[in-house]
Amino acid sequence: MKIPINIVTGQLKEEEIIVGIDLGTTNSLVAYINKSDQKPLAIADSAGDAIVPSIIYFDENHQPVVGKQAHEHLIDHPERTIYSVKRLLGKSYKDIETHESHFAYKIIDDNSEGLVKIEAGGIYYSPIELSAMILKELKERASHFLRSDIKKAVVTVPAYFNDSQRQATRNAGKLAGLEVLRIVNEPTAASLAYGLGLKADELQTIAVYDLGGGTFDISILNIENGIFEVLSTNGDTYLGGDDFDRAIVEFWKSKYQIADGNKQQIQELRLAAERAKIALSSSTSSEQKLSLGDNIYNLNLSLAEFQNLIFPIVTKTMDCCKLAMKDSGLTLADIKHVVLVGGSTRTPFVKEQVTQFFNQAQIHDQINPDEVVALGAAIQADVLAGNRRDLLLIDVTPLSLGIETLGGLMDTIIPRNTKVPAAAAREYTTSKDGQTHIKISVYQGERDMVVENRKLGEFVLSGIPAMPAGLPKIEIKFQLNADGILKVSAKELRSGIEQTVEVKPQYGLTDSEVEKMLLDSFTHAQADINLRLLVESQTEAQQLLYTTEKFLKNHADKLNQEEEKQTQDAIDKLKLALQSNDRQVVISATEFLNEVTKPFAERLMDIAIAEAMKGKKI
Ligand code: AMP
Repeated sequence: MKIPINIVTGQLKEEEIIVGIDLGTTNSLVAYINKSDQKPLAIADSAGDAIVPSIIYFDENHQPVVGKQAHEHLIDHPERTIYSVKRLLGKSYKDIETHESHFAYKIIDDNSEGLVKIEAGGIYYSPIELSAMILKELKERASHFLRSDIKKAVVTVPAYFNDSQRQATRNAGKLAGLEVLRIVNEPTAASLAYGLGLKADELQTIAVYDLGGGTFDISILNIENGIFEVLSTNGDTYLGGDDFDRAIVEFWKSKYQIADGNKQQIQELRLAAERAKIALSSSTSSEQKLSLGDNIYNLNLSLAEFQNLIFPIVTKTMDCCKLAMKDSGLTLADIKHVVLVGGSTRTPFVKEQVTQFFNQAQIHDQINPDEVVALGAAIQADVLAGNRRDLLLIDVTPLSLGIETLGGLMDTIIPRNTKVPAAAAREYTTSKDGQTHIKISVYQGERDMVVENRKLGEFVLSGIPAMPAGLPKIEIKFQLNADGILKVSAKELRSGIEQTVEVKPQYGLTDSEVEKMLLDSFTHAQADINLRLLVESQTEAQQLLYTTEKFLKNHADKLNQEEEKQTQDAIDKLKLALQSNDRQVVISATEFLNEVTKPFAERLMDIAIAEAMKGKKI
């Protein structure tokens, strides 16, 4: 055992605890690594309950109440009780228009392109603020339990969350007083909880099947040398155990001729259906006694009836699995492990169907499916705390990142599949004499021409001291942090002027968009290479024309008439060649001009101009 002691004060040094948080649509949890046995543990309340419903109720004084106590107000104060806020994170009103009826509270449409706001008790809240309230509750729970002010966390998000949703999650953490050290994909966390991917040299292919109360996700992951790669995802953001409950309610309503009741009666019937469903996870029949108004009902449901009811819903999830498999490019035999996540995977019929589908894989269902994501997040947190040096856990960037160079070419600075965090720099120079500013346009994608890629942002580095073309040394540096946020800086090394931007694309790419971009790059690979070669030859020709014409203008006196005429002819020939769009024609005309000018160029050409022939120009 190691006891850390602060050598200055002689006191025991407190080890910093980093917690893992599963910020869920329906429920959230916080977990940590128990020092005595090194096992992850979800932190429970005094009643022994680890689950915190992701629900916020605002009382008459606008004070937020989070969790179980807020749950009760879903019925008596639906307009002031906010649930499913995760569905609104990083979303504009346009994004949720078709699902608005799903929310019993008011979602504000002040600007259809802007991010949504939620109204409760006359006050407007952003989904980030509301998520922060849930995170604050979890932070307080952990701080209280661990008797230490918890300030750092790892937070999980669905694999399909885009940059804007990830950034929103991070900001919610900040607002709650938590430094979010890492955003981790939920399926990655669930796999980690089962110890998958913990060994450095292991190669695994995993399917993570996550059926919660209101959402369904299937993710196909590949782990190689500690790197988790999401090969594909699929799912339905409005499908889950709540649909099982609804199907039971409809069944009972027609079987027992139950009339539509008031809100409270509907809710009671729904809760009875959920109890029946849960009972059927461990028995073959269920009977629920329920008094609705003046009537008392004995609501029966057999396992066979229940399975009939949920068959179409479970089939929908299996259809998503088929699509995810297709997108992953793998066959079922490649899947070695299946991890079950979400409360609804406790239904034996769901488990059976999944087992049948992935029939050659090992099914992992021993860990509580409600806690598994939070437990995995705690393991990742422990890694970041430096307590598990054996574990690598690296993510990779799915698409290349680079800048636009002369001729609209993509110059990659961080190639795709680079492990993040990553940093890379490259030197560029100017293409014109006296050029005092350059525009740096940042792109993401695999195509050779930037127009085919996705623009992430642009900025101008100005204030470059006027120098001959090719003399400034401009270093462009890319720093990609572990969450996929890119910082781009440009520095003119001779003068030291510098400019930095953080590229946070408002809307990121979904996995299928990334896939499409990759696919396009493969399909167009040959055409892209040809075009790149042509553009490069044209750029080189234009640079040579520029420097030769400048030379002629400034040093005409140093050439004899014959040399001047020969040079002018070669210039005209090259200009003509440039119009041909034929790479070979451009190259031979360039070579010809080079030949003609070589004797006197070598003699007289300014070193700076010679420098300009090297390196790439922006
Ligand atoms: P989650 O969103 O992962 O917390 O899952 C919540 C869903 O799991 C709800 O629809 C619950 O009714 C359901 N659930 C919880 N326990 C069980 C159980 N023992 N059997 C079947 N479904 C369950």
